[in-house]
Amino acid sequence: MASYDCSKCPAYCCSYDRIIVNKRDLNRLAKHFDVDVEVARKRFTKTVDGEQVLRHQKDNVYRSVCMFLDTKARRCTIYNARPGVCHEYPDFSRCGYYDFLKWERTQQDDETFVPLTWK
Ligand code: SF4
Ligand code: SF4
Repeated sequence: MASYDCSKCPAYCCSYDRIIVNKRDLNRLAKHFDVDVEVARKRFTKTVDGEQVLRHQKDNVYRSVCMFLDTKARRCTIYNARPGVCHEYPDFSRCGYYDFLKWERTQQDDETFVPLTWK
């Protein structure tokens, strides 16, 4: 069973620079938004070091996050159409960032404290 609770986390994993999108992910995104695959590729992704990754938007918590994150609710707006890497993450029953977050919140005695912010 997972020992992390994404509903108590401001979606740190969605701030990663390289959220990789493969062909299948792109097809899913195109279908979800009812646009051509090429339109989806241009609108939602960019190429970094030869890899296709999701575009970002500005964020008050982590400076920059995936364009599909609702920055107020801190939730994915395309949950059912999200790329495979998002679906699989964090791969294990633990999330390293969540452990860190919990530890910091205990130290600060503040259940809403968020470490690693850019401000
Ligand atoms: S960083 Fe971990 S706890 Fe936070 S949203 Fe991502 S998977 Fe969930
Ligand atoms: S697609 Fe959704 S889950 Fe994946 S990084 Fe973007 S907001 Fe997070």
